[in-house]
This record gives sequence, C-alpha cells and structure tokens, in this order.
Amino acid sequence: MTENLNPFAIAQAQLDKAAAFLELDPDMHAFLREPLREFHFSIPVRMDDGHTQTFKAFRVQYNDARGPAKGGIRFHPDETIDTVRALSAWMTWKTAVADVPLGGGKGGVICNPRAMSAGELERLSRGYMRAVSRFIGLKQDVPAPDVNTNPQIMAWMLDEYEVLTGKHEPGVITGKPMILGGSAGRGPATAMGGMVTIREAAKLLDLPLKGATCAIQGYGNVGSFAHRLAHDLLGLKVVAVSDEFGAIYSENGLDPTVVSAHLRRAGKVGGVEGSETITNSQLLELPVDILIPAAIENQLTSANADRIQARIVAELANGPTTPDADQILTQKGIYIIPDFLCNAGGVTVSYFEMVQNTYGFYWSEELVQERLDQKMTTAFHAVHQMAVERGVETRVAAYLVAVTRVAEAVRARGWV
Ligand code: GLU
Repeated sequence: MTENLNPFAIAQAQLDKAAAFLELDPDMHAFLREPLREFHFSIPVRMDDGHTQTFKAFRVQYNDARGPAKGGIRFHPDETIDTVRALSAWMTWKTAVADVPLGGGKGGVICNPRAMSAGELERLSRGYMRAVSRFIGLKQDVPAPDVNTNPQIMAWMLDEYEVLTGKHEPGVITGKPMILGGSAGRGPATAMGGMVTIREAAKLLDLPLKGATCAIQGYGNVGSFAHRLAHDLLGLKVVAVSDEFGAIYSENGLDPTVVSAHLRRAGKVGGVEGSETITNSQLLELPVDILIPAAIENQLTSANADRIQARIVAELANGPTTPDADQILTQKGIYIIPDFLCNAGGVTVSYFEMVQNTYGFYWSEELVQERLDQKMTTAFHAVHQMAVERGVETRVAAYLVAVTRVAEAVRARGWV
C-alpha cells in the first residue's frame, strides 16, 4: 500500500495516536483535529512585464487557546491548503512544547519566488499583507519567515501593515531586520535551538559530539546556520550538505565558510572544491552519527527509512518524517528529535522579539542565546521524561506534552 503523504492527514494521524495514549476526551480530540479559522485569498500582482498575475494564498489560525496564533509564511510552488493546515497544527504543538504563551498558525502563497524579481516579490508581499491585515495583529496572530521568506519580506509586510493602520506596531510580525525591531539572534535561532536538543540527546546516548559525523539536508536559513553551528559550536564533522539542486560529500568534512562563499558565487552548494557530488537520497542514507533534515516535509518515508543509518535524526524541518518511516526508524533504534521540539528555537526567539517590541527595550545576543538555551533544554527534558515515564517514542512524548497543555487551555476557556 502506498503511504498517504498528505501532510494534514499525517498531522491528524499523529494527533490521533497521542489522543489514544492520553485517553483524550473524544469531544476535545475532535476539536483539536481541525483548524479554528482559515482564510483563502486571491492576490493580484502587477508583474514587471505589465500583466497582472493572480496568486492564491492562505492563512490558517489553527488554535489560539494559549495565546495569539503564531507561525511563518511560506512562498512555495507546491503550497496547498493542506500543507498550511498541517504546518499550523505543528505550530500549535510547537509553541506548547516550548512553553511560550502563543497558539499556532501558518500562511502560504502558491508562487515560485526563484522566477520572480525583487520588485514582484515586494508587490506580492505587500499584497499578502493587505489581504491578511484585518485578521492579524500582536494580540491575534503574528506571522514570521519560513521557507523562501526572509527578513526583507517581513520588512515589506511590516511597512504595509503600518501604512494601513497609520501606527508603528513592530510586534505584528517577527523575524524582521534588527533596524526595524528584529531580535538579536533571530537569524540562527531555529538552528541554535536544534543544536541544544542535539547536545542534550547526545548526553543521553553517550555520544561524544566532537568529531561525530553529520549530514544536513537543505541549505536555506535553517540548514546553512545548522552547518555553521554544528561545526563551530558542537565540533561536528559535517560530511555532506545539500540544496534543491543536489548534494555534496567530503570524507574530511565541509567547512561552512568555504561552502557559503561558494554558494554566494555559484548560487548552489554543488561544486565546492574537494567535494564529491552525490544525490539527495544518498545524503540521507549516509552512515553518519547525526542526520539533520532541514528542508521540507516528507523526506524520510517508507521508501527509504530502512536505509537510514544515523544514530540521531534531528528534525530541523517541519514534517520531514512520515508515520511509516517513523515506525521503521524507531524499530531500528534511531533516536528522533521530533520536528516541533527540534525546531522550536525559531518561534521561541520570535516570542522574545514580541516581548522586546512590546517593551521597546532590546536584549543583547548573549541574553537571547542564554534564554533560548534554557527554554530548549527544559522543553527537551520535558519530552524525554514523558517518553521514559510512558514508555513511548519521542514524537509521541512531544505530542503528549503539547496536547495536554493545549487541551488544558481549551478546557479552561470552556470551549469543550
Ligand atoms: N517558521 C518558523 C517555524 O516553523 C518560525 C515561526 C515563527 O517564528 O513564528 O517554526
């Protein structure tokens, strides 16, 4: 039987499994299986050649019982309402497991940003904000960057929002450039949080990190910082990295400075001097200590899971592992750091950014990092302790922690 790769079906199946362990009240379970609100937009954009192209776009506010909905906006040609629904559900569990007072949401635009000029991207970003502006706000729903969006896009969106409202409100969006109220340390935050979880997992497994081997799939904001930090902070030997065009391997390890200089010149990681070209699937199946999927969903599936050789899979991407693959990896004794725990560093520093914007008083990068480390370490051990107490795998344990917190807030509000 072929696997169902619909991300929302996967997110619901993961919740169902946790609900069974929790013996969750069926009414609560039914409520938590669905998003609270979703918005569908058509955004007309004047393209450089003068014609108007209409883009389909979404914003889903999955759950806001614990605080304003929170989550990024993706620009992707394969975006669908179901990917956005799944990602918004995972944001709900992520803010809960990280214990920041926020709910979960996500946005997406069906577009191919690689084929668009800077001017077209600016007009699309401003158009998205015009469409979504009446539904978001510091106390309602706070967007952020995600796949193919970045601080510049957040800056255009913030500006459009402030032009519409006539007021400065930097906390309406996070991941902004620092000059507009962004937080120190927000750029590397997702990767940094992931390193904390790898450090804690390695302690549990008695795996010495210095010189341990690592492969990283994806070289966007998360993957490129993961390479830098894995190398500089944890002393890992990163033997393979990839981007959407292909993967490279070097037995002696790849230097992040060399790879990023090459990427700036060549527009891809392929071709770094002294490296061998391999395929993305070969990268995933390398005999490394730590595998870091840092690209998009559905990368580890029933088709390749039994060939994965890593000891730790640290999921910096959202949804990289399907339920069938999950089962196979668990049977093989691979330690999974599940996505909404492993990559919670980004939204944690986004929360710090909102706090700083509210106070109008800004923290040093050292302070951000110290507080991020505390939050991630606490979250990791809450999940680990749950896994031990209940005898379940780490992903189920993360769900048990998160769903309990969200359900408690839903119950306290009297919604169910
Ligand atoms: N897009 C990031 C994520 O998936 C960050 C979200 C945020 O900062 O709101 O966690």
